[in-house]
Amino acid sequence: MVTLKGRSVYGGIARGVISVYQRDRININRRKIKDPEKEWRRYTDAKDSAVEALRALRDRTAEEIGETDADIFYIQQLILSDSQYETGVKTLIFDEKCNAEYAVAKTSQMLAEMMRQGDSDYIRERCTDVHDASERIIRQLQNLSVKEFVLEEVSIICADDLLPSETASLDKSKVAAFCTRGGSTNSHTAILARTMNIPALIGLGDVKMDELDGKYAIVDGYDGVIYIEPDNETIRNVARREEEEGRKHELLQRLKGRRNVTRDGKEIEVYANIGGLADLGSAIENDAGGIGLLRSEFLYLQRDSFPDEEELFYNYRRVVEEMGGKRVVIRTLDIGADKTADYFELDKEENPALGMRAVRLCLRRQDIFKTQLRAMLRASAYGKLSILIPMIIDVDEVYRVKDVIHKCKDELISKHIPFGENVELGVMIETPAAVMISDILAREVDFFSIGTNDLEQYTLAIDRQNPNYENVVPPNHLAVLRMIKLVVDNAHSHGIKVCICGEMGADLSLTEILLDMQLDALSVAPPQVLPIRRMIRSLNLSDRRQVRSNIQRVLHY
Ligand code: PEP
Ligand code: MG
Repeated sequence: MVTLKGRSVYGGIARGVISVYQRDRININRRKIKDPEKEWRRYTDAKDSAVEALRALRDRTAEEIGETDADIFYIQQLILSDSQYETGVKTLIFDEKCNAEYAVAKTSQMLAEMMRQGDSDYIRERCTDVHDASERIIRQLQNLSVKEFVLEEVSIICADDLLPSETASLDKSKVAAFCTRGGSTNSHTAILARTMNIPALIGLGDVKMDELDGKYAIVDGYDGVIYIEPDNETIRNVARREEEEGRKHELLQRLKGRRNVTRDGKEIEVYANIGGLADLGSAIENDAGGIGLLRSEFLYLQRDSFPDEEELFYNYRRVVEEMGGKRVVIRTLDIGADKTADYFELDKEENPALGMRAVRLCLRRQDIFKTQLRAMLRASAYGKLSILIPMIIDVDEVYRVKDVIHKCKDELISKHIPFGENVELGVMIETPAAVMISDILAREVDFFSIGTNDLEQYTLAIDRQNPNYENVVPPNHLAVLRMIKLVVDNAHSHGIKVCICGEMGADLSLTEILLDMQLDALSVAPPQVLPIRRMIRSLNLSDRRQVRSNIQRVLHY
């Protein structure tokens, strides 16, 4: 048995024979042509057919997988119709008398190179689309069919990487799992795998793909492992794990679409925490009531320069649109402490967790802050978006944030750019200071979100990054629980709602006491949404005496 470790982009267990996908090579030689007009017509005919094929693929993908994934092929149509692309090909055909295949390959290479140097990850990730779309034209020119990868039986697809068109063209009923050597969580293969509900591993590293072909394997998408020719013990262990997960999963699925109420009828919102677009599928799949926390800094951390307003807007808009009217809470940048990127050029600090971070940084570097806020406001025109400010310690910070938001709105108004009328503003309650002034903060904002991860760290003076203290902190420390109660009471007496978006919200052993304290919402990682909902539905808060006694017992009141 050989065990290969990768990164899981979608959970689940899959079994099957490995089918290694290898792109057949197209030979492109440079030829001198005599009649550029004729060559140009060859090109335009091939391009038109390629665009038409992409249109058909887009429609098919929209029907079989979904509109968002189908957009990939719309983008490829746009690439082929782009004037820069066309000029590149034209210059090579007319000025250098090159054959059309060579002109397309060369233009695609030049354009992809330019995009690779681009500022935004989004643009860089489109390089694959330029190659994919160009290859389609070249195949047309050479009368080669677009390669169909025919699967005889249900297979585990292993590849160096898969182009979006290749992934989408596969017969879904025959794909057990995807495993790629390269790939990123945001690659289209990963996006498609998640949407298609197929276990997928990326980053298998230096593996000789040829040697895997035809071998029986098991993919464990929970642990991010592929077992090639597994031994009997592994087969039994995986089967046990699968059965266990399957049972849990099946029971949980029944909760989808049901109202999320306690036995006595109290409605509790259960939202999902996500880091970006890549997690959206999982939030939807788990029937989250909305996005309770989008940790917007993750997008900044995955790159080496600032994202521009367009890229941020694209991301935020997609989240609100895909959540289809459900609430989406986007937290403004929480950079600093453990989450840093060199290009922010932050000074080295003795205690970065207590230093220049989150809202402090945003108020200091308002250019960065405003770019993000404008993108959020613009996205708010497409759904229900709320803005959440992290690491608040003072009401003056809230006034200053509001001031910046007003300036951004004025800028958008002056450019006639629409934004939502009722964008709510909330603050994270994750410092003891915010807890103690939560009565004052509650007058200034529309909602609270309690960040128990940081609240525990700052209340208990225990570094959340230090694994040595992991077991030192009791998960239900009295100080933190009492703080939550105080925050909820202050919020409710000012008519605003409170959510917990820290890990504590997903701790099933605490759900009852949190609800006893009248918490309104919980926001947890997508796979935790349904387990939390099951717990909520099992609780009965109608017995006031019982609730009081729970609070007295747990909070020592
Ligand atoms: C928290 O502090 O609890 C929180 C939700 O934010 P983060 O974990 O991103 O600091
Ligand atoms: Mg925090």
